[in-house]
Amino acid sequence: MAIQRPKGTQDHLPEGSPKLSLDNRAAAFHFVRETARRVLERAGAQRIDTPIFEEAELVKRGVGGSTDIVRKEMFTVYYFGDHGGYILRPEGTAGIVRAYLQNGLKQLPAPLKVWLTGPMFRAENVQKGRLRQFHQVDYEVLGSTDPLVDAEAISLLVDVVKALGLRSVKVKLGSIGDPPDRDAYNEYLRGLFSPVRERLSDDSKDRLERNPMRILDSKSEGDQQLIAELAVKPMLDFLGAEARAHFEQVQKYLRDWDVKFDIDPSIVRGLDYYRRTAWELHHEGVGAKSALCGGGRYDGLAEQLGGPAVPGIGWAFGVERLLLAMEAEGVELPVQEGPLLYVAALDEENVPYAASLAMSARSVARAEFAYRAMKPASAFRDAERRGAHLIALIGSNEVAQGTITLKNLVSGEQTLVETSDLVAFLAEQGKE
Ligand code: AMP
Repeated sequence: MAIQRPKGTQDHLPEGSPKLSLDNRAAAFHFVRETARRVLERAGAQRIDTPIFEEAELVKRGVGGSTDIVRKEMFTVYYFGDHGGYILRPEGTAGIVRAYLQNGLKQLPAPLKVWLTGPMFRAENVQKGRLRQFHQVDYEVLGSTDPLVDAEAISLLVDVVKALGLRSVKVKLGSIGDPPDRDAYNEYLRGLFSPVRERLSDDSKDRLERNPMRILDSKSEGDQQLIAELAVKPMLDFLGAEARAHFEQVQKYLRDWDVKFDIDPSIVRGLDYYRRTAWELHHEGVGAKSALCGGGRYDGLAEQLGGPAVPGIGWAFGVERLLLAMEAEGVELPVQEGPLLYVAALDEENVPYAASLAMSARSVARAEFAYRAMKPASAFRDAERRGAHLIALIGSNEVAQGTITLKNLVSGEQTLVETSDLVAFLAEQGKE
């Protein structure tokens, strides 16, 4: 058997491929990213791209040394003569904040809105919607703590998802307060879980020492059962006055703009640099445990990376997960148009002439040609398979007279045009 692609990766395939599904269709990826681009750039976001591999230290500090991503899922990059300390990025935020600090983007008008799309890498257990190379669309805003920025970020996310045609999505909104609020909450959790430490999973025993809030995020069923039994109070009960006012304000804006959300007290972000607003986007078709999108405020991140304090907030969705949700809802993608013109020569000697007609037509429209001489019946079949709109068959008469007969494959209508008028004629057709 020929060499296969690595587990947990996907090929993005051209239209008409035999093994096409919505989440490996190149045109579907393009549609999602293009839709996101349109919505986000209208809101003033600018495109940013950062390297696919970064210093390991950036990923460790940016994602958190105690997370599964850093402990179990990092792809390390080695190359000859190098220290091997690079990591394939598992998410986009840390790289974006690094780029902001390193390139002096603070000088741009604040708040700075940027967006990024590209592959991310996590060595996870592969299952539906959980890949080792997946793709994200990220939106990040740097330089403001204004709750208006938080509400706008959530609203834009909903706009993107709606523009893609998705309906059954739910925004789950929470706040994780400021550092002193979280210290108080962690203290409370420590007191609650310490007496039942033995019932926690090994990972959560570790979390109890390092960062008890992360126990609430545990994927272990035993842990979740214990959390339910203990009737753990939510983080929201521990918000200080300022964080509470900020949270209220975010909600007020969202209500004013008619952006629907549910308060979800179970949303926790266990890392130190997260502040205040945190949310997830869920979809019934993708399963309750896997969010389509996670977002939140991370005002402490820039300092964590060794820079000055720069407040930030952002979200990232997985393109594959979004496509699964679209599939579950039966959202139809716009059909890709075939070529406006297909040109085929009837004799071998006229193939280059037919090619040159198609190539000149490309200044105004998509045009293709046959690479060898064809009989009329096979030329028609080929043009139809490609979804062409018009077909032109080129024989020696057409070449000698400088004319071309265009047949509309939908209506059957035929038009004779001077070859010198072809481009102008196609330009008119293309406008219809
Ligand atoms: P996170 O950085 O973990 O909050 O992930 C943000 C989003 O990326 C998630 O909501 C998913 O849509 C997507 N995502 C994360 N991990 C994976 C993965 N292994 N495979 C596919 N999509 C993923």
